[in-house]
Amino acid sequence: MAKSAKIAKIRTPIVCVLGHVDHGKTSLLDRIRGSSVVSSEAGAITQHIGATLVPIEAIRAMSTSMQKIPVTVPGLLFIDTPGHHAFTTLRARGGALADMAIVVVDINEGFQPQTIEALQILRGCKTPFVVALTKIDRVHGWRVVENAPFLTTFAQQNERIQEFMETRHYEIVGKLSDLGFNCERFDRVQDFARNIAIVPISAHTGEGIADLLMVMIGLAQRYMEQSLAMSVDGPGCGTVLEVKEERGLGPTLDVILYDGTLSVGDEIMLASEDGVITTKVRSLLKPRPMKEILTEERFERVKSVVAASGVKVAAPNLDRVIAGSPLRGVRGDREAVATQIRQEMEEIHVKLVEDGLVIKADTIGALEALCQELENKEIGVMRAAVGPVSRHDLITAETIKNPLYKVVLAFNTPLLPDAADIVKETKQMKVFSGRVIYQLIDAYLLWRDQQKRAMEQQKFENIIIPAKIRIMPNCVFHQSNPAVVGVQVMEGKLRTDVNLVHLDGRKVGHLKTIELSLENVHEAEEGSEVSIAIEGATIGRQADVGDILFVDLPERHVKVLEKEMLSHLTAGTQAVLEEFTSMKRKVEPFWGK
Ligand code: GDP
Repeated sequence: MAKSAKIAKIRTPIVCVLGHVDHGKTSLLDRIRGSSVVSSEAGAITQHIGATLVPIEAIRAMSTSMQKIPVTVPGLLFIDTPGHHAFTTLRARGGALADMAIVVVDINEGFQPQTIEALQILRGCKTPFVVALTKIDRVHGWRVVENAPFLTTFAQQNERIQEFMETRHYEIVGKLSDLGFNCERFDRVQDFARNIAIVPISAHTGEGIADLLMVMIGLAQRYMEQSLAMSVDGPGCGTVLEVKEERGLGPTLDVILYDGTLSVGDEIMLASEDGVITTKVRSLLKPRPMKEILTEERFERVKSVVAASGVKVAAPNLDRVIAGSPLRGVRGDREAVATQIRQEMEEIHVKLVEDGLVIKADTIGALEALCQELENKEIGVMRAAVGPVSRHDLITAETIKNPLYKVVLAFNTPLLPDAADIVKETKQMKVFSGRVIYQLIDAYLLWRDQQKRAMEQQKFENIIIPAKIRIMPNCVFHQSNPAVVGVQVMEGKLRTDVNLVHLDGRKVGHLKTIELSLENVHEAEEGSEVSIAIEGATIGRQADVGDILFVDLPERHVKVLEKEMLSHLTAGTQAVLEEFTSMKRKVEPFWGK
């Protein structure tokens, strides 16, 4: 008795299938939908609105190993639309609507951009998941054992295939580990809290499908019992999948109910384009089984539905309801419910910092995932909002102090025309657009590193570089005003517009120009012989033939040279710097430190 009371309290977990395009998401869902081998009414897989319910009896019937395990999870509700767009758009109480996920990876193709993105999104939402390594029947030479559990079919394969499978498996484990996920093949997982299970399957032959469903049930059973606990009698809470016009019914809502019970006659609140609205459920509709559709109405009317399920809601005033928004059954405090809906529509769970980027995305879920990934890379976010990139976003980005953050990252969202004009006209504001999170971040990082290097270079440009020169014999071309002499650059790099001194600190004059083979140059490399013009010096007074002179280095420049530029300097330049600073530090030990 106590056990059955517990059963009633855990609701069906909602599952979403993610993965790279063409890796087999739809085929997997089709396979699950089609694997209704159970004849009993209670155990049949049923089509809901926008979702498919696989009851626990159906899973038990498929998997012999599960017969004995006591299970309280009533089944799995698969959202019919696969992909991360559906996952991030469909939300419940500020988080993802799906309680769990399957990430589909084609065994022959391995990880692809959208695989990585799916994993990033799931990490961002802290959603538990299982990896389905699919299309195993495509492995060359595979011997199909229809609908068999994976270990049975694996034992039938020859050594070469088994080895190939292991290699592929460990490649995937390695890739996941690079991303910070600990994974193992499902039958080797000891602790589902620490390891993510990988289940090899085929959507075409049904191999491994029972294992996959069983692992999902196990995951829900052990780690989600609390979050799946609900009050069956509570008011219905759901998420609107779509607003649809139905012949004879007017505008209707396709809803996934994730908590409580929704009944005909219930008062409900919804988010519409005009704010929160209140209306009354006129009818609740479920799809009719395929074979009955030909003779009767497409939908079957029901009096009430219990979470989790997908249902069509008909009620007055639904035409301006926003897809993806919450539906709440109203009991008691109406204002509290309305406030909750308003908050849910605005809430974004991201940490904002003062020194960071401006980011925009098409959905709250995507925005959160993008933020999470930026945070992992230690890139701050200053403003995060849903919607297209506006003029206002660019102006906000413009005010950011750090030049490396003066950009906008736009994920899956366009630029409004006035914003596009600003970008085109000023050419100063940079907007990064993309449809794959990690590619978008990589593009930004590439730009940021280029900028960083350019900024460093510019800083170095203005720093005086050390050099040591010797006035060569028979090369005094002009005694003074300015003195023009031939010199050899002994070490370092000689540039124009520097002051020259003796090692003991005596001033010589200002090096105005350098001439190499009768041409004015800006700098002369180590070992070269050039003629230079020194203002303020007279040969025979401040300097003489054979003298060794140094470029005078201001203390501020020495700090930058020693602390930031040392690795960029040649050995010769470093030697001159050392000679110059030791001379200075004889008098003042902490000079330039
Ligand atoms: P989606 O884009 O991820 O939904 O991928 P689909 O389910 O549409 O599958 C893409 C292609 O792979 C289709 O041609 C499928 O028939 C094929 N496919 C999917 N799963 C399997 C499988 O398990 N085995 C084989 N051999 N082909 C598969």
